Amino acid sequence: MNEILDKKYNYLSNFFKTAIEQNRLFHSIILYGSNNLIQYAMAMEIARQLNCLEDRREDCNCQNCRWIRENKHPSVLTISKIDNKSDSSKTVISEEQINTILDTLVNSSDYHRVFIFCDATMKHLTDNEEKEYEEFKLTGFNPPQNSDNENFWYPTGINTNCFSTVAANAMLKSIEEPSENVHFIFLTNNKEDLLQTIISRSQAFYMADTKNIEYNIDFFKQYFNSYPNFNKALALDFVNSLINFQYDNNIETTYILDCIQYYLIKLAENNFENSRLLEIIQQDINEIQKTKNMAKAYIKEQNIYEYLSFYFSKR
Ligand SMILES: [Zn+2]
Repeated sequence: MNEILDKKYNYLSNFFKTAIEQNRLFHSIILYGSNNLIQYAMAMEIARQLNCLEDRREDCNCQNCRWIRENKHPSVLTISKIDNKSDSSKTVISEEQINTILDTLVNSSDYHRVFIFCDATMKHLTDNEEKEYEEFKLTGFNPPQNSDNENFWYPTGINTNCFSTVAANAMLKSIEEPSENVHFIFLTNNKEDLLQTIISRSQAFYMADTKNIEYNIDFFKQYFNSYPNFNKALALDFVNSLINFQYDNNIETTYILDCIQYYLIKLAENNFENSRLLEIIQQDINEIQKTKNMAKAYIKEQNIYEYLSFYFSKR
């Protein structure tokens, strides 16, 4: 896959690559996390891998790969309130917009059709966003709209405000009974930002925004010695060791959870050929992401770790 994406999201890149090679990629995919631009690049890379006419290698110059990099491929479309919209309102992804897209699916196509759903604006970038943008450009992909003056196309996570229930419902049948060679990819900050009916029909992938933080895994890794098995007898010990480490070092609950996620991501990177294990790891990463939301809602750390411990024991 793409070098930048490979380095930063190695296990996800490999997961998608293998799924595409084995022709078992889900038709509806949710990418979630805080950096929507890198998600956008990942979505484009998936589209490229699906459509490549040659061997899918990163520097492939076939027509499909070129068109996708230039963001001019007729079958790889960005759907947002300002992209691929025929009606005049620019505030939401509308039902009319969805129906227009779905109508095109009636015609058969030689291409793999990929629809990337996100929220988007044309805006002046902050310093931080500019860094994200530079990283995005290094992936070799282009945004669906060129910058005008000082304004850049910038994606944000889709949510129920910009993607109404009516519009989302219009899509359900297509997600449920997908045509061959059609994929929907949703970019969000939290996967709960989407309608439950879409979540339940999709495969979700957390894209951690890996910053240069040092993660400590020593205080819990022993409990994962026989991963994916989790020793129920040590469930309470596991909770205590997380709490002790947190209190002794006076750190945030989310840091503890990040450490466990980091550990699982590394584990995935070392086992990228084991697709069954990767699926379990992905589920676990999703579950930990859920507990981070619990932490944000001020649920006590003891309860969060017990929840997690219970989850690992039962799954
Ligand atoms: Zn190609």
